[in-house]
Amino acid sequence: MDEREVVVIGGGVVGLMSAFFLRQRGSQVTVLEAGKIGDGCSGYNAGWITPSLSTPLPAPGSVSVALRSLLKPAAPVVLGSPHLVRLVPWLLRFAANTNPRTFRAGIAALAQLNRRTFELFEEVRSSGVSYRVDSQGILCAFLDRQLGEGAHRSSTALSEFGMGPPRGLLLGPEARERYPQLSERVQAAYLFPKDFAVDPRSLTSSLGERLRARGVSIIEDARVTGISRRGGDADEVHLADGSSYRFDSLLLAAGSGTAPLLKLLGKRARIEVAKGYYITARTGVDFSTSVSCGDRKVACIPTGGGGLRLGGIVEFTGDNSRISRRRVRGVLDAVREYVRDGDVELSHPEGALEDSVHIGKRTLRDSGLPILDRVPGLSNVYISSAHAMLGMTLSAASGYEMARFIDTRRKPETLIPFTF
Ligand SMILES: Cc1cc2nc3c(=O)[nH]c(=O)nc-3n(C[C@H](O)[C@H](O)[C@H](O)COP(=O)(O)OP(=O)(O)OC[C@H]3O[C@@H](n4cnc5c(N)ncnc54)[C@H](O)[C@@H]3O)c2cc1C
Repeated sequence: MDEREVVVIGGGVVGLMSAFFLRQRGSQVTVLEAGKIGDGCSGYNAGWITPSLSTPLPAPGSVSVALRSLLKPAAPVVLGSPHLVRLVPWLLRFAANTNPRTFRAGIAALAQLNRRTFELFEEVRSSGVSYRVDSQGILCAFLDRQLGEGAHRSSTALSEFGMGPPRGLLLGPEARERYPQLSERVQAAYLFPKDFAVDPRSLTSSLGERLRARGVSIIEDARVTGISRRGGDADEVHLADGSSYRFDSLLLAAGSGTAPLLKLLGKRARIEVAKGYYITARTGVDFSTSVSCGDRKVACIPTGGGGLRLGGIVEFTGDNSRISRRRVRGVLDAVREYVRDGDVELSHPEGALEDSVHIGKRTLRDSGLPILDRVPGLSNVYISSAHAMLGMTLSAASGYEMARFIDTRRKPETLIPFTF
């Protein structure tokens, strides 16, 4: 058995899944986490495992959506000044990537990476990682009938990549008869039956438990502040508390902390932070299927007993965790439009906003695709980052393929499109 020492920086879902598959391949693995595992973006997201909705964010038409958003207080995309000035070159590259050819190439790459996603999640689960599944199936609902019809056509067309396909489109009263949790305002709906939602915190904590039981060393409150290099290799990481860890291979999977780690190595990747809102809410309407509020781009997941988890907003206002009350209101108002009787409120309506709302910092490249690669110029440093809106979904597949890459030192073909 290969007992190579691998250090993984970052105890989010991406780092933990990579550690899982590295251990499975026989490596000795140490995970270094600056805070507690799962306390980054991986603990505060919608939790959808959704190969069917895995398309790059720079899509044809997405620039006009973003520009219109500048004028709306409750818009799904927020471009904040003064950060906007710094962001302009990145946004221009993002805009260039919205052309149909690049978009299709991105879909093909993600579909190829995702082709074993359900199988790999099942493998992780059957190994004893007992994460909670909140709902089976994702119901895409639209207030605008034409928008729903268009989205259904586009999603059906993606079956050429092996994605979906969605079940048949239901219009007007038909949609509400079939799915009584939907409001009178919903004009079109269709279901992806295989996609599901996990409770994100239970995934990271049960992965942590399982990894520890398998001999992976998970060290919390371990912030990496230095990386030593030796020629074309790196050989040691240094922590804020003065301790050090040596390794044969190093994986940077530190979410929004990845760009600063690259800087330590004298490298730069154009990764932006796109804040998202994770909101716990409750409703009197009983339902068991996640709802994608299609026109408003909000995810609504039933968590049992009338509980809801909501995820939404793509906010470019820098690397911070500030909560905007206006945007929280915007997300709640959006979901009320889709749920019967509009009966949705914060889980702690009388408490502090932080009791019901957390900020997740997604990391995003202008291509919309993650970086799954070796760091150029360093033979033993790898990077798995910028999973954007899809980190939960892609975590098993990217973890599996990165473990293969690190173990064999040969880049698997599936990872070729995800270059540094
Ligand atoms: C509102 C919202 C909804 C979302 N919904 C979905 C969804 O439904 N489905 C989906 O697939 N994806 C979704 N996402 C995206 C998904 O959450 C992310 O892509 C994913 O969590 C990224 O995981 P990660 O492990 O790369 O980063 P993180 O979870 O942020 O983990 C990185 C870890 O690295 C640690 N770290 C950073 N720097 C250092 C350092 N120097 N030393 C040691 N440790 C360090 C951090 O403390 C952190 O714990 C959503 C995101 C948001 C915000």
